Amino acid sequence: MKFGTKAIHAGVQPDPATSAIMTPIYQTSTYALESPGKHKGYTYSRSHNPTRTALQEALASLENGTAGICFASGQAATDAVLKMYRPGDEIIVSSDLYGGTYRIMKKLYEPAGLIFRFADLSEPRILHELITEKTKLVWIETPTNPLLKITDIGQITTICKSKGVQVAVDNTFASPYLQNPLDLGADIVMHSVTKYLGGHSDVIMGALIVRDEGLSETLSFIQNTAGAVPGPQDCFLVLRGLKTLHLRMQRHCENAAVVAQWLTENPKVGAVYYPGLAAHPQHELARKQMRGFGGMLSFELKGDVYDDAVRVFERFKLFALAESLGGVESLCAHPATMSHASFPPEERLKMGVKDTLIRLSVGVEDIDDIITDLAQAIG
Ligand SMILES: *Cc1c(COP(=O)(O)O)cnc(C)c1O
Repeated sequence: MKFGTKAIHAGVQPDPATSAIMTPIYQTSTYALESPGKHKGYTYSRSHNPTRTALQEALASLENGTAGICFASGQAATDAVLKMYRPGDEIIVSSDLYGGTYRIMKKLYEPAGLIFRFADLSEPRILHELITEKTKLVWIETPTNPLLKITDIGQITTICKSKGVQVAVDNTFASPYLQNPLDLGADIVMHSVTKYLGGHSDVIMGALIVRDEGLSETLSFIQNTAGAVPGPQDCFLVLRGLKTLHLRMQRHCENAAVVAQWLTENPKVGAVYYPGLAAHPQHELARKQMRGFGGMLSFELKGDVYDDAVRVFERFKLFALAESLGGVESLCAHPATMSHASFPPEERLKMGVKDTLIRLSVGVEDIDDIITDLAQAIG
């Protein structure tokens, strides 16, 4: 099946009890056994729940994996990956990274003995120097938040495979509509389902998708044992969201391309970060690796005056100033005080996150209204 068909049908069968076309919300914690050891695959909802099973199969299919494993948040999904390692194990992490990922590594797992090496992986050959016999995993995010840098997944996985190191890709920004890391050799795909997959800013959820049976078993064991599972109502909402993923992503991409071009032509705007712009330093790589350029972009104001940025945020009418991204509605964010507040200021500046950087999650509203709002806010 092609992507748009999978988005609507994958994992979803008419309900065995009633033939309901839409997967019911199995709001139950437990299931009656016929006799000891005799059941229909469901015994307790931390272990398995039919609504969650449908969603996990749908996500596995959209990422061309064999197993999807859902968690109560994106952070819980990342946490499950990190739980696979032991003190002394080394993990190499691309330094341009979601703030929460940095925080869980630095504040929870580094004190517990895991060793993290943060590095600019835009030139993957650097891995030849960084990988040691203790390196177990390379964690990358592409496109990155908030500067939309692109990392070459194929080059990274080729180097890592030759050294027996696994690769995890946070695919939240691209969504499976634009990029499938497993097809490029990655071992684990991580999603904050909260964002494009859910798509309507009404659910917090995370997911991991894998192909390898051993990884699937280990991560499912962690899911059940640590227990950070999503509830059936949330799984239902994401199943509903997935049905329009391809339509939404198409419009996100179209709208963001218009916004990016408009921003480059505005005299008050400085740098614009969008992989779809020919001037983006990794535009060619993005063309090769992705099937479109997504709905996220960032820009700076000329002169770099913090108060100017504050004024723009205060003037926005359509763009709400809010954490998160990937919903149907347009949002704006101030990375320095929001998503990246957990980085020390000098780390943040080293990453290129200036105090006047404005990040947009371009929604699927009418493009004329989006541009009108930007024009009146930037002035
Ligand atoms: C939001 C986000 C996360 C964390 O996911 P939650 O669902 O908020 O826990 C991880 N990575 C990226 C790129 C994100 O945008």
